[in-house]
Amino acid sequence: MNKLMIVVPAYNEEEALPKTLTVLDGILTDLIDKQKIDSKSRIVIVNDGSADKTWEIIENTAKSNPHITGVNFSRNFGHQNALVAGLTAARDYGDIFITIDADLQDDVNAIYEMVDENAKGFDVVYGARNSRETDSAFKRGTADMFYGLMGKLGVEMVPNAADYRLMSQRAVDHLLSFKEHNLFLRGVVPRVGFPSTVVYYARKEREEGTSKYPLTKMITFAWDGITSFSVAPMRFILVAGILSLLVSVGMVIYALYQQISGQTVEGWTSLMVSLWLIGGFQMIGLAIIGEYIGKIFNEVKSRPRFIIQDNLLSDQDFDDKQV
Ligand code: UDP
Ligand code: MG
Repeated sequence: MNKLMIVVPAYNEEEALPKTLTVLDGILTDLIDKQKIDSKSRIVIVNDGSADKTWEIIENTAKSNPHITGVNFSRNFGHQNALVAGLTAARDYGDIFITIDADLQDDVNAIYEMVDENAKGFDVVYGARNSRETDSAFKRGTADMFYGLMGKLGVEMVPNAADYRLMSQRAVDHLLSFKEHNLFLRGVVPRVGFPSTVVYYARKEREEGTSKYPLTKMITFAWDGITSFSVAPMRFILVAGILSLLVSVGMVIYALYQQISGQTVEGWTSLMVSLWLIGGFQMIGLAIIGEYIGKIFNEVKSRPRFIIQDNLLSDQDFDDKQV
């Protein structure tokens, strides 16, 4: 039977955590009773440098409840890193892994469905919300913009799926082989491949505590997402350079005309002409340098170039066929 590891990132979640642990433990126990998962399944809480009593709660609960365990960060490393750390720590002890937020805004009942879908052979089961009603108009608007932009940039993502998902051990292994810093899980998980499916659920309002994603963190998150997957922002400089050069040609003609019709002070024409031409060339030069930096950037990330799902070559076959 599969050992299930539920990985939960928690940052200043002392208000939400006690109930979250009770609810998740209830589901884990139920799944164990129904013999859908192994009794060695665990809930792994990652304390992301909380300033409140989050870690104390984790430690104390772990003492009395063997299902609950945790990892403690030295400081706040952020939501995505907390998820990666939780998966890394749980990797050797589990067969299937579910990540879920500590505030239980995501419907925990979807865990049953995820486990069932996994049993049917899906390595990745995305949890996607069927509506965004509980979000503020602002969050909905910015989220739509973000997903729209990512789509245009050609980044494949599951619409309205956040970081609530199930992954098999091999999917986790390959996910962890993406070594870039600021790993943007939502964009990277679809790139791991393997059979995947989506379960839909309704997302609730946060009951306890407040959102740990203020506007600044949201912007950083979105910017990381865009710049980790695309060099499109840099291409803007190229476009701007070309436009500027086009304008400069117009300016040159205009300045020469002014010169010929004698309506200008001495020196103005040569200044204007050189200013615009140099500006245009400089921008194009910048864009070309940017293009190379973009290429280096893609290399430095050293993402895996391919992922093998099945492999028919085996040592044994080769041993038998040796001539
Ligand atoms: N979180 C974290 N580190 C951070 C910010 C958030 O581990 O620096 C966790 C947080 O405790 C929660 C999850 O990430 O479990 C999602 O955060 P939140 O619910 O505040 O985001 P929202 O639902 O408002 O987008
Ligand atoms: Mg939340």
